[in-house]
Amino acid sequence: MSAGFPDFRLGTVLATSFTGTLSERHGNAVERIPVPHRLVDWLTVNGLAVDSCTTAQLDLARELRESIHAAATAAANQDALPASAVEVINECSVQGRAAAVLTPEGTRRWRLGSGSCVEDALGVIAADAIDVISGERDGKLALCASPTCQAAFFDTSQSRTRRWCDMNTCGNRQKKARFTANQRKKPSSA
Ligand SMILES: [Zn+2]
Repeated sequence: MSAGFPDFRLGTVLATSFTGTLSERHGNAVERIPVPHRLVDWLTVNGLAVDSCTTAQLDLARELRESIHAAATAAANQDALPASAVEVINECSVQGRAAAVLTPEGTRRWRLGSGSCVEDALGVIAADAIDVISGERDGKLALCASPTCQAAFFDTSQSRTRRWCDMNTCGNRQKKARFTANQRKKPSSA
């Protein structure tokens, strides 16, 4: 099903996992939801399964994604939030008709409206973004230290000193780059 498409980066925060479906925004950008059915796959993995997705709905999803990215970046930099991004996030949040339901096991599940409910799923993501950007949730918005990434991520570590959006990709790459640079320096400094 996912053959030929870039893998998803899975995080624990819905809103920033969603913005992570476009990575390396300042380098060679990787679009991880290039076609509607990949958005369906992503939503399924994140507990927001929908029946189907149209090209127009994918466009709307990407508009929301970039709006969350813009607003989260501004918030991380303590800049004023871009008005157009706030508008898109709010519009998606208001449009969604998803309901939180409690399972017998005591966990939360999202029940989306009937039919193809990409808009309902986007409503859940928009609400999650509002939680994170408004400071309602415990954690701190920060920007990835990788120059080609600079993704906004939500730092929930105790010390609030996380530097990378993802340790397995950006963090490792940075470490390798530093290691290589150190190896190169050695002969001349010896
Ligand atoms: Zn990163």
